Amino acid sequence: MSRRARFLEVLGIADEWVLRRAPALPEAVEPSAMAGLADPSAEVTAVHEDTASREAAQAAVTLAAVADARVDEAQAEAAPSAWSAQADMDAAAPAPATAEVAVARMPPEPVAADTSTREAVIARLDWAALEQRVCGCNDCQLCDGRTQTVFGVGDRQAEWMLVGEAPGENEDKQGEPFVGQAGKLLDNMLAAVGLARGRNVFIANVLKCRPPGNRNPEPEEVAQCEPYLRRQIALIQPKLIVVLGRFAAQSLLRTTTPIGKLRGTVHSYEGIPVVVTYHPAYLLRTLSDKARAWEDLCLAREVHARAGAKA
Ligand code: SF4
Repeated sequence: MSRRARFLEVLGIADEWVLRRAPALPEAVEPSAMAGLADPSAEVTAVHEDTASREAAQAAVTLAAVADARVDEAQAEAAPSAWSAQADMDAAAPAPATAEVAVARMPPEPVAADTSTREAVIARLDWAALEQRVCGCNDCQLCDGRTQTVFGVGDRQAEWMLVGEAPGENEDKQGEPFVGQAGKLLDNMLAAVGLARGRNVFIANVLKCRPPGNRNPEPEEVAQCEPYLRRQIALIQPKLIVVLGRFAAQSLLRTTTPIGKLRGTVHSYEGIPVVVTYHPAYLLRTLSDKARAWEDLCLAREVHARAGAKA
């Protein structure tokens, strides 16, 4: 049995391969010039009639490609006339070709994450370090007008996390999110689903400092402050995030979709389910939307229950 026949038999595809052309070996061929070469003109056509042999056929195609590459490398040294069907068989010897295929299939080298960036540093902070860093943060212009930062409040092992926009005047004075009339309404909303501030709930804002005159935060202010919220979420690992108001929803979900269209659907932030509802301050002005807010809380409760939650 010829070397070629033995090789194809090993691959289990001896009956499926047809050499279109197998040029004769010229007399002037130097054997050393052919070693390890495949004949690029000796194209191999695989006829896949048997599903069980598909893998073997694919491997042979890969081997032929590897051999072709070797031809390219060797062309500078060996004359094209030296290629032959016999050289093809030599090149397709299973052991070295398998090694090359294995190298070709190795995943790319992972790109090392830059651990020195501001975000990467914040992402490693524990609760105490995070709170301290926020307290002294001057990383955006909002630090100029604040009375104090508003870090967030509540149970740090909570399953529910509520996220609002930014501190208002009262929050800036008291250092706690959602105080005043809007805060009272939020407490009532929480009570309606069996929750209480500080018990299985953590409340925070996207921004930790009050924008002057309660203006909308600028994109760069959000970009600077969001890593703090992201770290809070990573530390708490809540089963559900309820986002309060258009601005917080659009910032967290990175969208410009109106809140009316974001409501009623379960979104995702870093793999955590997110339910969007109205800001309590808006509900104080728009009583007609309180029924919709109740629907949102019912959806949140359902999502929370589905997440296998305790309370
Ligand atoms: S808003 Fe955020 S980023 Fe800007 S100063 Fe306050 S804590 Fe720092």
